[in-house]
Amino acid sequence: MAEKSKVVSIPDQISVRDLADLLGASPIEVMKLLISSGIMANINQTVDYDTAAIVATDLGFEIQQEIAEAPEEAPPATEAPTLPEEVPLRDIYAQEAPEDLKPRPPVVTVMGHVNHGKTSLLDYIRHTNVVAGEAGGITQHTGAYQVEVNGMEITFIDTPGHKAFTAMRARGAQVTDIAVLVVAADDGVMPQTKEAIDHARAANVPIIVAINKIDKADSDAEMVKKQLADVGLAVEGWGGNTIALTVSAKEGTDIDTLLDMILLVAEMSNLQANPDRPATGAVIEGQLDRNRGATATLLVQNGTLHVGDQVVIGETYGRIRAMFDEAGNRVKSAPPSFPVVVLGLSDVPQAGEIFTVVDNEKSARALAEQRAEERMAAEQAPVRTLSLDEIYAQMQAGAVKEFNVILKADVQGALEPVVSSLEKLGDEDLRVRIIHQGIGKITESDIGLAIASQAVVMGFNVQAEPAARSMAEIEGIQIRYYRVIYKLIEDTDKALKGLLEPVYEAVVMGHAEVRTTFRASKLGRAAGVYVEDGTVKRDAHARVLRDNEEVYDGTIVSLRRFTEDVNEVVEGLECGVGLAGFADFEEGDVIEVYKRERVA
Ligand code: GDP
Repeated sequence: MAEKSKVVSIPDQISVRDLADLLGASPIEVMKLLISSGIMANINQTVDYDTAAIVATDLGFEIQQEIAEAPEEAPPATEAPTLPEEVPLRDIYAQEAPEDLKPRPPVVTVMGHVNHGKTSLLDYIRHTNVVAGEAGGITQHTGAYQVEVNGMEITFIDTPGHKAFTAMRARGAQVTDIAVLVVAADDGVMPQTKEAIDHARAANVPIIVAINKIDKADSDAEMVKKQLADVGLAVEGWGGNTIALTVSAKEGTDIDTLLDMILLVAEMSNLQANPDRPATGAVIEGQLDRNRGATATLLVQNGTLHVGDQVVIGETYGRIRAMFDEAGNRVKSAPPSFPVVVLGLSDVPQAGEIFTVVDNEKSARALAEQRAEERMAAEQAPVRTLSLDEIYAQMQAGAVKEFNVILKADVQGALEPVVSSLEKLGDEDLRVRIIHQGIGKITESDIGLAIASQAVVMGFNVQAEPAARSMAEIEGIQIRYYRVIYKLIEDTDKALKGLLEPVYEAVVMGHAEVRTTFRASKLGRAAGVYVEDGTVKRDAHARVLRDNEEVYDGTIVSLRRFTEDVNEVVEGLECGVGLAGFADFEEGDVIEVYKRERVA
């Protein structure tokens, strides 16, 4: 807290961040005070002297105005950058030119333990804030709705809980900007509260805590805050910055403040999109309507969706025949963060699928068919496991800097030493990130989180529930079981080390002797060879050895039997071989074919 009657001098203009620094307060505290004076400013925005002075006075400061020096020569201050560093835009927005980006409403998901009041909260907000439409204000269930607060919109995802949230993320859609974590004040932090925190964190989504059921006689908000701090979510007043407020979804107490706080966090996150481009976004839910055919609720994430647009959603496509808001009113266009029910699709899409607007029906059909083919090919391929090896590969490609682990153990006493040992592994470039830890069997929720976060699931003295096991199998998630701590640590350590310094070994697959050479159009010359042992494969590595000396090391780019392109030729057969960037074959050369394998 600020010291009383300290004097500060405030310049003509000051950013919210600098003002907070100057006053020794958190930016959130400053923004809240600004809100109470009716000013919505994000952390990078500048406020004038009079406004800053009100905040400073509220915090108990005496103020003096700083005299601006040499105002004539000073160039006008450049605008603060529109994107605060701490909030990276997601990929779809990153490709937009900054000047095309406009603010967009936040998309909020409500999470928390069962019976803590998520549904009641969503219902209360919906009934008190939804703009009653022409359809008589009768709202229908569409999976998402938008409310208006102080002239600003907030979009709520109407399926509470982290299961839906993670299922969407696993399909590639990240729609949530802010998570409201509901904790009942008479029940406190429960297993799903903790899961919800981990899921929101794994997705880098800011959390606002709504301590609910404050009307109840046995409610204890301070206890809830302490318990949250104990599980690593420090709220204001408990050593952290996470906003927490007490509400009653039943009586409506302080729900308006909760909505203000959502707008505040949205403002800080500087949520933007480019409304002037063809729309892309995610499916919130799909439904088969007896009268209207395939329908879906789409949430526009970037661009604007119009009636008449041609869309592709996964393997489904169609021309949008009509669009409706959640009250059933017809709308012609849907800007960013706006959920709409659309008609005109060829099939019912699944929640979490991504939609894209394309130029015409031909490209829509081609894209949908291509996706269907890719899926069928993937289904025929052997079951893919997200193995340690695959994660290495991704890390090597620079795609991942953290080794995500979901850890379940039989008892708390086992969890702690495992966690502390795991956290010591790795170095600055690569470390273990435990995105979720808990007691008990491995559940479907754990697998869902693993899919969404590309994590390995480790069970210490616990098994996976049958449903979780089959989900892991289908989705290709690796579950590793351990009975001794040192083995778990050793495996993880090896994984990280392998990652840091991968060692590959050439494993010879076969040899072929050059019997003749001939002209080949693209390569210059190719070799007619006889496979002496093993196999020769297209795309494999190959060396050319002449009198036991290596004259070439590269790849086989062409492989033919008679006039046919083939993938593989085995011992005892003849074939034509073309190498990348090599044409100087001589009769008697030996082509040694090999593959590179990671040394375990
Ligand atoms: P959910 O499982 O988290 O969606 O929880 P619900 O919204 O279904 O609420 C569970 C129960 O708690 C219901 O009986 C609600 O009426 C009750 N409830 C929800 N919010 C409050 C509240 O603020 N105060 C009181 N007293 N009861 C509440």
